[in-house]
Amino acid sequence: MRTVRSPTGLTRLTGLTGLTGTVLALVTVLTLSGCQSRPTTSAAALSAVTGEREYRRPGPAVRRTPDGFLVVRSHRRAVGSGPVTRYTVEVEPSLTRHLPGLQTSTGLALGANNRGWAASHRLRQVGEPAHAQVRVLLARPATVDRLCAQAGYVTGGRLSCWNGRFAALNAWRWRHGSPGFRSLAQYRLYLVNHEFGHGLGLGHEACPAVGASAPLMMQQSKGLLGCRANAWPYPASRSTASARSAG
Ligand SMILES: [Zn+2]
Repeated sequence: MRTVRSPTGLTRLTGLTGLTGTVLALVTVLTLSGCQSRPTTSAAALSAVTGEREYRRPGPAVRRTPDGFLVVRSHRRAVGSGPVTRYTVEVEPSLTRHLPGLQTSTGLALGANNRGWAASHRLRQVGEPAHAQVRVLLARPATVDRLCAQAGYVTGGRLSCWNGRFAALNAWRWRHGSPGFRSLAQYRLYLVNHEFGHGLGLGHEACPAVGASAPLMMQQSKGLLGCRANAWPYPASRSTASARSAG
């Protein structure tokens, strides 16, 4: 048996075919690398695993804010109906590689979605922090701790918060999620929606019963206490969310 490199960059072991060969080859690559956090797979193959795209330069889509963050300049059209809330999407400069994922998550969470806040609010993304009521910011744990301490919160390098201006999302949590969530994508939707909910003036709620869907405003990052993970303010059907919006 010998090792060859296929045109796609994936190593395959000759003598084996199909999925078995590919899986064995991937195990071989990871084993030889010595550490799963430093895989030798190509950037494209890695992005297929992590869902993250390479994003080395901020480019024209962002600009620096006076307080040192990068704000997305591109706007989304306003969605939903109800009280208008303007928000920005921002990252700390050292985290620009997470910007595509952040844009995806905020777009899904705060876009035209009847399970989301757009069912009860008119949401408009803006490129100017001074015009925003909520600044959604992905930041390093130390930065989140600093911002949250301004509001009296102790986040310990692991939690996120709303400090009255920033929905400050902890980058460690962004990467690692929290147990009980179906996927990292689901956790990220929860995190955006939860902190944004604080920005809309909402406080915390408790798990109502074992086996129940967790209220969005429950502190699900700390544990589910028997509830089922939920990322949405209106997790029920489209028609129910519309009724709430209209009512
Ligand atoms: Zn909270």
